[in-house]
Amino acid sequence: MQRALGIVYPTQCVSCAAPVAQEFALCGACWRQTPFITGLVCRDCGTPLPGEESETDVLCDDCMTIARPWHAGRAALLYKDNARRMVLALKHGDRDELARPAARWMLGAGRGLISPAMLVVPVPIHWTRLLRRRYNQAALLAGELARLTGLGSMPDALIRRKRTPIQDGMGRGARFANMAGAIGANPKKSHALAGRAVLLVDDVMTSGATLAAATEACQVAGATRICILVLARVAKEA
Ligand SMILES: [Zn+2]
Ligand SMILES: [Zn+2]
Repeated sequence: MQRALGIVYPTQCVSCAAPVAQEFALCGACWRQTPFITGLVCRDCGTPLPGEESETDVLCDDCMTIARPWHAGRAALLYKDNARRMVLALKHGDRDELARPAARWMLGAGRGLISPAMLVVPVPIHWTRLLRRRYNQAALLAGELARLTGLGSMPDALIRRKRTPIQDGMGRGARFANMAGAIGANPKKSHALAGRAVLLVDDVMTSGATLAAATEACQVAGATRICILVLARVAKEA
């Protein structure tokens, strides 16, 4: 039956729909246009850095100027070229099946952050956005990561307390001001985060303001050690 379906509906590249051998994979051309992060990376955000991979605790310029409230962070992709197209397709294009390969890439980048008792928590979106978009892409990624790792996940551990304006086009200071106090622990799940290590998941990190607000909400709720893992990091061109 599987074989017969394979003939009728050939397996397609998750990005461009070209035929590929493996399900939920990229074709060779899309793979080459997708900027996967490898080598030495910033401890706090996963931005690639020049230097030897064996170096530890190195920070990018951004993370040297902005103190990050979380313990460590990683990103699978640089937000450009085909990575940008896929992030936007996942966010606005109803392409929820992209979460499967995306979570696999995130796990590849973030394996070193993961500890067995961690709780996987997505960065929340406001319920009015959820109505319009049908799903929270961060929650999809968190769910796939939990499935791949066997870690527990809690999609509603955090909530958006206020509907913040879209941050596109805002400077760094405005983004942090915009997000201050915008995220809180879900009062219906108030003890869920107490004493837990948390893996915070989002699709994109730009300034880090949203992830900082989410981290602080976890800390207020008693989480012990918070790491962040994102699909794509917006980084200045080196
Ligand atoms: Zn392709
Ligand atoms: Zn950094």
